[in-house]
Formats: sequence, C-alpha cells, structure tokens
Amino acid sequence: MKAGDNPKAKSVLKKGDLIVIAGAGGFIAGALVRYFHEQGFTRIRAVDKKPLYQWYQHTPGVESLCMDLSFEENCRRACEDAAEVYNLAADMGGMGFIERFRIECLRSILINTHMIESAYRAGAQRYFFSSSACAYNVELQKDPNVRALKESDAYPAMAERGYGWEKLMSEMFCQEYWAERGLKTFTARFHNVYGPWGTWDGGREKAPAAICRKVIEAKDTGLGNIVIWGDGKQTRSFMYIDDCIDGIDMIMHCDKLIATPINLGTSYLISINDLVSLIEKIGGIKLKREYDLDAPQGVAGRNSDNTFIKQVLLWEPNTPLEEGLKKTYHWIEQQYKDRKAGKRTVKD
Ligand code: NAD
Repeated sequence: MKAGDNPKAKSVLKKGDLIVIAGAGGFIAGALVRYFHEQGFTRIRAVDKKPLYQWYQHTPGVESLCMDLSFEENCRRACEDAAEVYNLAADMGGMGFIERFRIECLRSILINTHMIESAYRAGAQRYFFSSSACAYNVELQKDPNVRALKESDAYPAMAERGYGWEKLMSEMFCQEYWAERGLKTFTARFHNVYGPWGTWDGGREKAPAAICRKVIEAKDTGLGNIVIWGDGKQTRSFMYIDDCIDGIDMIMHCDKLIATPINLGTSYLISINDLVSLIEKIGGIKLKREYDLDAPQGVAGRNSDNTFIKQVLLWEPNTPLEEGLKKTYHWIEQQYKDRKAGKRTVKD
C-alpha cells in the first residue's frame, strides 16, 4: 500500500484542522508530514530543532519551524491551535548512538513532557507518542532465538538503559494524561524502521542503512570486505517506512488504543548475518566478513509479537523485507553518488 492511500485510516479531522508534527526534520516524521500533505490536509505545522537546510525532506506548503522542543515555551508555540499532535522528536540513533549517549537519550523526556502538556493546554483532540521496542525488559532479549515481545512484556520494567527508560516514562505520561485529564493519547512501540530518507551515515544510522552503505562503499572502492558489529548472530525484525506511516495513522485514529501502547513492527526475525547476505544479493556482490566483537550490538534478539495489532486493526506491517531493502539500497546508492559528486545529501 502506498502512503496517502490508506483505506483503513479513519481520520476524524477536517482537512483544514491543524496537525502538528514534531521531529519533522528527521526520518519518520518527515515521511509523516508528506503523507498528510498528500492526503489533502492543508494546515500542517512541522517542527524540528535542526536548521531547515538540514531537514531530510521538505514538503511544499507546510509551515516549517526550527525550534528546540526541550523548552516549554517552544512547545507552547508549536502546539498553538493544534487539533492533533504527533511527537516523533527525540535525540536518537542506532546502537552506536544509544549505547554511547545515554544522557542525550534521557534528556528527550523534556520534549515529551512539555509537548504533551502544551497539547493538552491547546485543547488538542489527540496526541501521538513514538515509543520504541527498547522499552521492553532486556532480560527477555538475551537469546537470538528470542520469543517475540508482546505489549505486556514491558513490565516488570528493565528497559534499555537511557533510551529505553526515557520511552517507558514518556509512555506513562501519555497514560496518565488520559487517566487524569482526558487527553486521548496513543503510543506505538516501533521496531527498527528503515527506508529511503533515513540516516545512512555519520554515526546515528541503523543496521539496514549502515550495511547498505558498507556494501555500496565496498563495491565502489574495490575493497572486498565488510565489517560487522558483533558476531552477526544477533536477531531483529525490520519495518519499512510506508508501513510505519500507515500504522501511525491507524493507531492514532483507533479509540480502542487510547492510552494503550502497541507494537508497530514486523514479526519477521532475521539475523544480522542473513541481513548482510540479503543486501549483498541486492548489490550483486559477495564480501569477506570481519567481525568487530567490541562494537555496540545491543540485545541478542528482539522481535515483535503482532497478535494484538492484528486483533485490533486487522492489519500488520507487511512490506517484504527484500522489497523494502531494494528501495532503500538504491536510494542510498544515489545518495552516495550525489555526495561523491559534491551534491547535498540528507546528512550534509
Ligand atoms: P530521526 O533522528 O531521524 O528524527 C528525530 C528528529 O527529532 C531529528 O530530526 C531531530 O533533530 C529531532 N529532535 C531531536 N531533539 C529535538 C528537540 N529538542 N527539539 C526538536 N526536535 C528535536 O529519528 P527517527 O528514526 O525519525 O525517529 C523518530 C521517532 O521514532 C523517535 O522518537 C525515535 O525514538 C522513534 N523510534 C525510531 C525507530 C527507528 O528505527 N527509526 C525505532 C524506534 C523508535
């Protein structure tokens, strides 16, 4: 299904109601802005702390504000007159970032704390928070053949240090704003999202983009090897960006999910070694593998149990991994060529 063409999403909004999207200079929120614009919403306010020229995507006709949302007064301004607020702003990245910069990750709690209060004061009808599978108890993720995580597995809590605890606390804010103040809040726990217009270099990129880049680099330079973080046996599931956007829309507009965190990911588990093989196949090359056992690698295994989402939405993310990876690989290849040619790319 193509973004903007979603038969299940039942937005209760009028096309002229104001939608506020935080983190819009980044990967997922940038795609969400484009999605609502394509659906004909005429008032979208996109907010990010990055200067505008560093935003990954620019959707014409959208109000774009450069503001640091860890300050309350900026959140008040961002949420003025909002009908719906989507908070996807966070200081985050792949394992290399979240294992090293736990303080930055924890400080994102300021963003959600001020955004949800501002959304409430502005009289917003609905509030969305982007949580993460990192909120789950790490004790349940010690084996590559992991049992898929269901929503109740977040408690008893032992989330990923830093990033995961911030997500869990912010989820709790969302639940209490509904319980005490009647603000309709919605929380999705994303499992590894990948696709075009995502970070692909510079230290914040995640495994699919990093591996695509390494394969493209190896082809370009003629070096026949690839460095893999860890032993490559760690397992994950990966969701294509279009599925993530469709899922956000459906979750935000499903009243059964008010104040109820839900998995948003695929349940197709794959090892990093097999992911490398798939990307090598797309790139048409076979590389010699070197394993960096000191590199950050996160939990041994993590998968999404989709029983709940299938039951509530009669849907789950369904883009085949190879299909999504092909699109991602070719996009990164073009970015790589553009950078070599001195053109601007998403991270410059
Ligand atoms: P991203 O880094 O591409 O986008 C996040 C954006 O938030 C960035 O553009 C950043 O500049 C902005 N931001 C950070 N601090 C800010 C602040 N103080 N004020 C305003 N803007 C600020 O990341 P993404 O992959 O698009 O992730 C979006 C959301 O989804 C995040 O909350 C992230 O934790 C969550 N998530 C993502 C994944 C994934 O695989 N990408 C997985 C789980 C959860």
